[in-house]
Formats: sequence, C-alpha cells, structure tokens
Amino acid sequence: MPRTAIYCNQRAASPRKDSDRLNLESGNDIAPTLRIIPRDQHIISRKNISKAALRVLYRLNEAGYAAYLVGGAVRDLLLGLQPKDFDVATSATPDEVKKLFRNCRLIGRRFRLAHVVFGPEIIEVATFRGLGEEGGEGDRHIVDGRIVRDNIWGTIEEDAIRRDFRVNAMYYDISDFSVRDYVGGMKDLQDRVLRLIGDPDIRYHEDPVRMLRAARLAAKLDMSIEAAAMAPFEALGPLLADAAPARLFDESLKMFLSGNGLKSFRMLEQSGLLKFLFPATARALKRGDEALRSLVEHGLENTDARIAEGKSVTPAFLFAVLLWGEVRDVAHHWIARGQESTEAWARASAQVVGEQCQRVAIPRRFTFTMEEIWSLQPRFEQIQRKRVFRLMTHPRFRAAFDFLLLRADESPAMRELGLWWAHAQQLPQEVLAAALPAGGGSAASDHIAAPVAGRPPRPRRRRRKPGDKSGSV
Ligand code: ATP
Ligand code: MG
Repeated sequence: MPRTAIYCNQRAASPRKDSDRLNLESGNDIAPTLRIIPRDQHIISRKNISKAALRVLYRLNEAGYAAYLVGGAVRDLLLGLQPKDFDVATSATPDEVKKLFRNCRLIGRRFRLAHVVFGPEIIEVATFRGLGEEGGEGDRHIVDGRIVRDNIWGTIEEDAIRRDFRVNAMYYDISDFSVRDYVGGMKDLQDRVLRLIGDPDIRYHEDPVRMLRAARLAAKLDMSIEAAAMAPFEALGPLLADAAPARLFDESLKMFLSGNGLKSFRMLEQSGLLKFLFPATARALKRGDEALRSLVEHGLENTDARIAEGKSVTPAFLFAVLLWGEVRDVAHHWIARGQESTEAWARASAQVVGEQCQRVAIPRRFTFTMEEIWSLQPRFEQIQRKRVFRLMTHPRFRAAFDFLLLRADESPAMRELGLWWAHAQQLPQEVLAAALPAGGGSAASDHIAAPVAGRPPRPRRRRRKPGDKSGSV
C-alpha cells in the first residue's frame, strides 16, 4: 500500500467529501461514510453531560471552532451508561484552546492535549488528529510500526479513523445535538460487538495496548470482540513487552479498579492476554491451583463490590492478590531449601515484584504495602498473647487480615484461622488476653477454637529452625 499523505501539520481548512477514501500512511485503508443521527433519533440528552464539558463545547463553538463530545462518553451515553470522563475533539489547536480558557494547561509530548480544569473535573480537549507522512511538516514519529508521537492535526474524518474501535468513533455535535457516526459505530453498539477500525495487525503494531483496551471494553460494556480483532492476540501479545510499563500500570488500574475487575480479569485470561501482562499470575493459575483461583476471583469480586458501594480501594491489595500464588510458591521453594522463613518471604517478594515491574510499573509505595501484606501472613499463625496484640496494632493489619480471609479456600485450617482472627478482634482486650497463651512455641492454625468459646487455641508443635521468627504459610 503506497504511503499517502493527505493533510500534514495544519488543521485542514478545506472540507473533505465524506465519501473520500483515507489511507493511513501505515497502510490502513478505510472509507468513512458519515451517518448523521438527528437529536430525535438518539437518547443523548444534555442533562447527562457534565456542565464542565458543555461549557467547553459551547465556548469552542462560539469562538468558531468545531467542537464535539467524542469517544467513550458518546458510546456510554448511547448505551444509557454514565460516562466516567468527557472528552472533547475540536478543530482548534492546543494553543488556540489555551487562549480561550484561563483554566487550561497543555500536556503531553507524544499526544499534545489541552486539559481544561474545573475543580476536580478535567475536560480533555484534543485537536483532530490527521494523517500524514512521518518527517513531513507535522510531528509524528513511528518506530517499527509503532506510533510513538502523534501531533499532526487533521479533519474530523481523519480523526475518526485513527480511533481504535468503531464504537469509540462517534461524535456528539453541540451545534445541533446530532451524533455523527463515521465508521458504523452505531451498528456495532446494536450488535454489541467491538470491531477495530482498519486492519487489526497494523492497528496493534501501531499500539499494542489496543489489545488490552479490547479486553477491558468488552468486559465493561458486556460486548464481544469480533473474531478478526481477537485472532492476533496470541501472535502480537508479545508486543506488549515494548509498551511503557507506566502506561500498562494505568491500563491495569482501569481494568481492575473501575468496577468491572472480575469480568476484565476473566476476559484477559480467556483471550490469552493475561500471560503478557501478569506472567506470574498466569503461570500460577495454569498450575491448576483452585484455591488460588478462588482467592483471585474473590479478591476482584470484593473490589468490584467496594467500588459499587463508593468505598476506597487500593491498588496494593489488588496486586498482592494477583501475585500471591507465585510469591507463596517461591517462598516455599526457598524455605524447603533451608532458608529462614522471613528471609525466604522477603526474597520471594523482591523476586516476584521485580519481575512484574518490568512489565507493569507498580509504584514503590504500592509494592511496599504488598510486601507488608504478604510478610504478615505467616504471623497470623502465631497465636501467642504478645504477638497477637502486636500484629493487631500493625498499620497494615486490616489489609493483611482481609487478605487472610481471601485465603479461606487454601485449607480448612486457613478458614478457621480467618474465623479465629475475626472473633478475636471483637473481644474486649482483657478477655482475649486471658484466652491466649503467654508464650512458648507458635500456635496452631489447625486446632483453633474461637476465643469467644473461651478455649485458647492449642499450640501446634512444629519444627523450627534456629532463628526462625515467623511461621511459614
Ligand atoms: P473509558 O473512558 O470508558 O475507559 P474510553 O474509550 O473513553 O473508555 P479513553 O482512554 O478515555 O477510553 O479514550 C477516549 C477515546 O480516545 C476512545 O474512545 C478512543 O476513541 C480514543 N482512544 C483511546 N485510546 C486509544 C488508542 N490506544 N488508539 C486509538 N484510539 C484511542
Ligand atoms: Mg473515556
């Protein structure tokens, strides 16, 4: 396919015929066919659009620029969902946008954008992205088929076909409240299927994260992914290794901490993408460990439920859940080779976190908490007065205890241990203290009576290595 530059650099002033065929320089060949859906034939109402987004749209429009609500917001509104953010596409360049809004800052190098800030709400305003040759007047940079910078302005038609999925390429026009559908997004919404715009092979090479977006959006929207868009996952999944780990962290949060974590996880696993993003998790699950699957699924389910109730969630807990199987197995591996338990856990945590962070850059403040949650697990088995109280006052006790409860399916003893700690927390301090042995060997997890029953947990006899301060799990 010859490389055809259509508009470079400048915002296209000349109107294009909608039926014009557009060739992406990468070889994509799409013919956008505009369908205008008037206000009385769709359900988008201004009362469901954020006030801030409406102000941005109106101001741009009054200043003579084209301005549309675009992307996920239009898609979600058409599905009757409340969008999580409102993005605007415009013919104004970022500098022109900045001149119009005092509360505007320009961001990004790869993709220059304007952020218009209204208190906690940010409206992202993007200038129509165009086509054009790399090295031309505009600022686009492609390495091995991958778009690493894209700042060439263009027309709305060009902007539409550069988007990822057809359902994401619809524009709500503030001037007449119609929806402009350039590539058949409306039909896909009706069919409940995600179809990529253009050739999947090329589009995934340009940006491998689009594979993850497919899985995430399919889960969020309850849609299927068209077979042609899913087919290259296995062959092109390894391209995710070249994606920026910080971006994969953001994408992971969107997948797991947006209220559809469990569905996203299942979709990642079914589609075969999990192993490219969380190799250790995929490996551990592949070993057929049902207790681990239950832990991961319950962990994600609880997270979804917390989000639905408006409660806070921490990425640290979630990543601790996802990587637990591998950390536990590696720690056991070192313990079986005679390493002292605390050291074995520390070593296992460092190894697993280190490997994972090469793919997904989990910030240090979260990995630190994950390591704490893991390292506190063996300490739940030590039911002696001092240790119990010390553990209960640990700043990470709550998270570590919630984690312990997720491990209930590992064994009946683990379930009982969870129950014991749940009861213990409800007792007045003196009653609990009286029910606990003062010291001696570490206590059992397999013969634990709830302290409410008044019977102290019976110490378990276990072999200890000299200097072994914490039990193993
Ligand atoms: P949600 O906000 O619900 O997570 P979204 O589709 O709105 O989903 P955003 O990241 O907000 O996702 O992106 C806004 C729009 O930008 C998308 O709808 C799509 O049109 C476009 N877009 C985002 N990421 C890409 C990409 N990697 N390739 C092409 N287009 C993209
Ligand atoms: Mg969005």
